[in-house]
Amino acid sequence: MKIALVAHDKKKNDLIQFSTAYLSTLEKHELYATGTTGQKISEATNLKIHRFQSGPLGGDQEIGAMVANNKMDMVIFFRDPLTPQPHEPDVTALIRLCDVYAIPLATNMGTAEILVKGLERGEFQWRSIIHEQQGEQT
Ligand code: PGA
Repeated sequence: MKIALVAHDKKKNDLIQFSTAYLSTLEKHELYATGTTGQKISEATNLKIHRFQSGPLGGDQEIGAMVANNKMDMVIFFRDPLTPQPHEPDVTALIRLCDVYAIPLATNMGTAEILVKGLERGEFQWRSIIHEQQGEQT
């Protein structure tokens, strides 16, 4: 599965802790992240992560493009709801695209845990079926 990891600045430590806790699950998947988030997680965990641009420089939109092409299977986006973001329109656009394409999206740790536990139980195999129907590999 292709999984995107994004965290706003005040949530980055939470996502690092989350990635550390679920390392053995996450390392079995293809990971993507916005620039700074990806750098910090890979420094802390050694996970291999494809890094896009930093969020404010277009990284959220790059992940959105993968969602729009049905290439992203899950988005874990630890938003900071208490701090104004210069790229708020991009954040809204990414969340909107996840809803357009019914891509599992967690915007906080509580939901992210449910998604990753579901991943461990194989509950996202329906995404593989969609890829197979599109003639792709997962
Ligand atoms: P960053 O971007 O990982 O480059 O900090 C995340 C965001 O703010 O959307």
